[in-house]
Amino acid sequence: MTAITKSVDLDRRGRVAVLTLNNPPVNALSQHVRQGLRDGLAQAVADSGVDAVVIVCAGRTFIAGADITEFGKPPQTPSLHEALDLIESSPKPVIAAIHGTALGGGLEVTLACHYRVGVKDARFGLPEVKLGLLPGAGGTQRLPRVVGVEKALSMMVSGDPIRADEALKCGLIDEIVEGGGGGKAPALLVAAVAFAEKVVSEKRPLRKIRDLDDKVAAVRGKPEVFANFRKSVARQTRGFRAPESIVKAVEAAVSLPFADGLKRERELFVELLNSPESKAQRYFFFAEREAAKIPDVPADTPAKDIKKAAVIGAGTMGGGIAMNFANAGIPVTVVEVAQDALDRGLGIVRKNYEATAARGRLTAVDVETRMGLITGSTDFNAVKDADIIIEAVFEEMPVKKEVFAKLDGLAKADAVLATNTSTLDVDEIASATKRPESVIGTHFFSPANVMRLLENVRGAKSSKTTVATAMAIGRRIGKVPVLVGVCYGFAGNRMLHQRGQQAEKLILEGALPHQVDKVLTDFGFPMGPFAMSDLAGLDVGWRIRKGRGVKSPVADRICELGRFGQKTGSGYFRYEKGDRTPVPDADVEKIIVDVATSQGITRRYISDEEIVQRLLYPMVNEGAKILDEKIAIRASDIDVIWVYGYGWPVYRGGPMFWADSIGLKALRDRMLEFKKASGDAFWTPAPLLDRLANEGKGFVNA
Ligand code: NAD
Repeated sequence: MTAITKSVDLDRRGRVAVLTLNNPPVNALSQHVRQGLRDGLAQAVADSGVDAVVIVCAGRTFIAGADITEFGKPPQTPSLHEALDLIESSPKPVIAAIHGTALGGGLEVTLACHYRVGVKDARFGLPEVKLGLLPGAGGTQRLPRVVGVEKALSMMVSGDPIRADEALKCGLIDEIVEGGGGGKAPALLVAAVAFAEKVVSEKRPLRKIRDLDDKVAAVRGKPEVFANFRKSVARQTRGFRAPESIVKAVEAAVSLPFADGLKRERELFVELLNSPESKAQRYFFFAEREAAKIPDVPADTPAKDIKKAAVIGAGTMGGGIAMNFANAGIPVTVVEVAQDALDRGLGIVRKNYEATAARGRLTAVDVETRMGLITGSTDFNAVKDADIIIEAVFEEMPVKKEVFAKLDGLAKADAVLATNTSTLDVDEIASATKRPESVIGTHFFSPANVMRLLENVRGAKSSKTTVATAMAIGRRIGKVPVLVGVCYGFAGNRMLHQRGQQAEKLILEGALPHQVDKVLTDFGFPMGPFAMSDLAGLDVGWRIRKGRGVKSPVADRICELGRFGQKTGSGYFRYEKGDRTPVPDADVEKIIVDVATSQGITRRYISDEEIVQRLLYPMVNEGAKILDEKIAIRASDIDVIWVYGYGWPVYRGGPMFWADSIGLKALRDRMLEFKKASGDAFWTPAPLLDRLANEGKGFVNA
């Protein structure tokens, strides 16, 4: 065996050369891997004792993509293109032997090979779109030539990997072979070498994908194929730049010779690399991973193994939270006060699963398996064997405290006691127990079985094990956990509250709900503040306001008419039966104008730009306070919260990254202008914002 570079070895099995890549953890295409591929292949080609070459990976996976730590740095030779050219033009057949995932540049390596074999649980994908990029090493040109234009478009625009059986069906791989991993479990290698020997003995041609034409020729002169595809993905790709660039690159694959297509791919790639959208998406990729790190709770802090969970309350949130556990295969008990509430709650859970099954995303057996993991009870003793108990009862402090006192008496000594409160003081809730170190907030977002964010709220006394457990279980049930501290509304809702206040003011000053909402949907949010209130139900806030003696004149008048939002068919908007599209309503406009008149406000035209600034700058300002108070660990955590919890468009990075891209000085100065014009202390810049603005710094790289 010869070491070509520190991550690539060259070996011989009979007359087949084997290039083994070993660059843990995922065999990313670092410089030494590219060099090893290039130089190892050159040696194998020069060796007269070699008839064919197999490329295989050690460890748990085939090459899973580029080495993203090299992004933004000066390119190092050899480029991946150079290595791929050499593979494709090798006079001896090159076979890729794939296990784990062949992703991004990894799949592009296999596309330069003449043949591909994979084990049955291998996955194949080009996920560059998720970083706002396109496959830049020939993927956009080779994939359509091998799997066809429509399949290639759908793989590259979704970025989702396909399974081995699908890959075989569409021609992406030539054979599914037995065997597990590469280096350690040599079954795959044995099969791949046998395949290579077969290619040689049968004198099969060197199949260069660049020279294949039939699948792209089938679409030549048929622009409707692209038009239809664009239409089919318009909704989910709105605002993103990469999907359209991918379509353009595939158009080039169809209409241009291979070499020219590669040039076009390169131009489009560089354009994306420098685009604000991709910069934001790449930033966010790291932000999400960073959120898992808690400075004083290192990764090796022991977390409690969760074998069984319990949820208190089977309402909107309790049911959804229970589903998360069942989906992850963890048995969960749901405790309610009354049987009818329990039956109603679990009935909704079943309906949700059945709806998913009706859409073909679960089998009938899956539905029963998951329902089988959820047990209902009206007896609190049912929490006794749970490792984590999540309370999701009414948002009232006395009720929460009573529940926690009860749990304290019943739960296992080392159980984690969590609350799903969205506003209440976690420390006060913890004080109802004799074990505040075991108490933490786990703030799920609605619908709890869908939304990815889990805002974990660390109490003053939460132990490191409690924190580590809440973070680990969040990941296990498929959430993105972000740790914050205790304050009213925590990070997310506290910022949302600022936006809500300005939304109310804007409609009194001259904008209308549909204009405000449209500005935010144009910005990239799935819905605006008024449609969101209609969806959540206006009565909830109304009841809270009445309890506190607070007024919100427009919202109160709307509620007095029994307009509680979507559920009553009208709120800030009207809704046709069976349709969730908000329709502007003249009656609401009249209420708004009346209230404005009664308050002596002269309504004026408000520009879209002002609406964006009025709604989002206060959020950034609140984010600065949250950072200053150490409620959030880092600015990027706030961005993760907003992208996963509130639909902030990921191609704008999150509120803090977005603020940096505007420039904090410009943002702060605009706030001061609003302050001067309105005389409202609301617009006072937070000290941290002010300081960073003066220093010419940003939040993210402060
Ligand atoms: P909900 O009214 O739909 O459900 C609460 C359930 O708790 C009811 O079924 C009720 O019967 C039950 N319950 C009340 N007291 C109980 C007790 N002592 N023991 C057992 N069960 C009891 O409310 P929800 O919307 O699910 O909210 C629950 C919690 O989640 C609240 O703290 C809320 O602030 C929080 N939250 C709600 C949302 C949301 O969008 N709805 C989002 C995040 C967090």
